[in-house]
Amino acid sequence: MKRTLFAPEHDLYRKTVREFVAREVVPHQERWNEAGIVDREAWRRAGAAGLLCPWLPEEDGGPGGDLLHSVIIIEELARVYESGFALSLHSDVVVPYIHSFGSAELKARYLPGCVSGDYVTAIAMTEPGTGSDLAAIASTARRDGDHYVLSGAKTFITNGILCDLCVVAARTEGGDNPHQNISLFVVETNTPGFLKGKKLKKMGMAAQDTAELAFEDCRVPAANILGQPGAGFLMLMQKLQQERLVVAIAAQCGAEVVLAETLKYVHERKAFGKPIAKFQNTQFKLAECATEVEVGRVFLDRLIAEHMSGEYLVKECSMAKLWQTEMLGRVVDECLQFFGGYGYMLEYPVTRAYMDARVQRIYAGTNEIMKVIIAKQMGL
Ligand SMILES: Cc1cc2nc3c(=O)[nH]c(=O)nc-3n(C[C@H](O)[C@H](O)[C@H](O)COP(=O)(O)OP(=O)(O)OC[C@H]3O[C@@H](n4cnc5c(N)ncnc54)[C@H](O)[C@@H]3O)c2cc1C
Repeated sequence: MKRTLFAPEHDLYRKTVREFVAREVVPHQERWNEAGIVDREAWRRAGAAGLLCPWLPEEDGGPGGDLLHSVIIIEELARVYESGFALSLHSDVVVPYIHSFGSAELKARYLPGCVSGDYVTAIAMTEPGTGSDLAAIASTARRDGDHYVLSGAKTFITNGILCDLCVVAARTEGGDNPHQNISLFVVETNTPGFLKGKKLKKMGMAAQDTAELAFEDCRVPAANILGQPGAGFLMLMQKLQQERLVVAIAAQCGAEVVLAETLKYVHERKAFGKPIAKFQNTQFKLAECATEVEVGRVFLDRLIAEHMSGEYLVKECSMAKLWQTEMLGRVVDECLQFFGGYGYMLEYPVTRAYMDARVQRIYAGTNEIMKVIIAKQMGL
């Protein structure tokens, strides 16, 4: 079915992004995958090409586009199976916290660098002892004069090695109620006591520098708090909707790309004297996959439009994150089977897509947590 989301200006932008990806991403992917990290310089190039925070208003130092420009970037990276270059985490997940909740001074200090690529950002919520249960965060931020002193440890942090700025969730004073005692801070990662730990070895997303972090008496200016002290949990709840949505967008596009690649392959590959596309099993399985992909696309595009109109869609963003990532898992698994032994070889993109897909059901809130949220929204 025809997509109706994009205006002509977006189509032009897609051309720019596609050219950037062909020039600045594809030639480096193998090396990035082996190194377990993307070139730092690639971030500055992305900034120069207008690919960072494309939605940020001009008055804040941004290009003045909208979320659809970000959607295009996610889709164009997915088209080439790029899962390590976490532009969307930076642009659509972390920077929105600074933009929505930062003081005028924080925004003026940090946002232009987030657009140019001088600042790569990360967000540190998860800890070794807690992920799903954000209210149980144990890292602390103790007020000491004009500073907060951060102590604690975080893990699984995307862009953990490359980041120059990190939004950190930590417990401040204010009793036991997480709605009153978790705060968010923008921390410059060269602050003494901000320690970047191990780059973690993962099943997939080979080029993504997911890392552990630790804070040892890390003194952060009190002015670097986002919003009010103690309002961190509520800010997280608000912004997690878009995080879930962008994961769903990547998952949907990932499924579309793998399906298209598989369709080509089943026409080329022969067994028993004919293309494997001629077997009824192939036709039925791929018909099922195509149905899932098409139905998913319509729901998702509608959700993107409603999210952009300012609706606060907790249930629907959770549904998209749940359904699109489960659908990706089903489609990639079915598709990989058609590649036979080649589907187990790393040089085949479908193999990497399979490995990259698994985490999507885990991060940005596990799919079980999505069901908890959906059920709650249903009054259960
Ligand atoms: C590659 C990668 C990148 C990541 N990037 C970031 C990042 O940039 N920043 C960040 O802060 N975090 C990041 N994470 C962390 C991620 O968000 C967490 O791993 C995730 O939220 C789950 O938390 P956990 O690992 O502690 O699992 P747990 O919370 O320990 O959950 C374990 C299991 O219990 C289930 N479970 C928990 N509670 C319930 C419940 N109430 N009902 C039913 N089942 C439940 C879960 O669904 C899961 O199956 C990343 C993780 C990965 C793997």
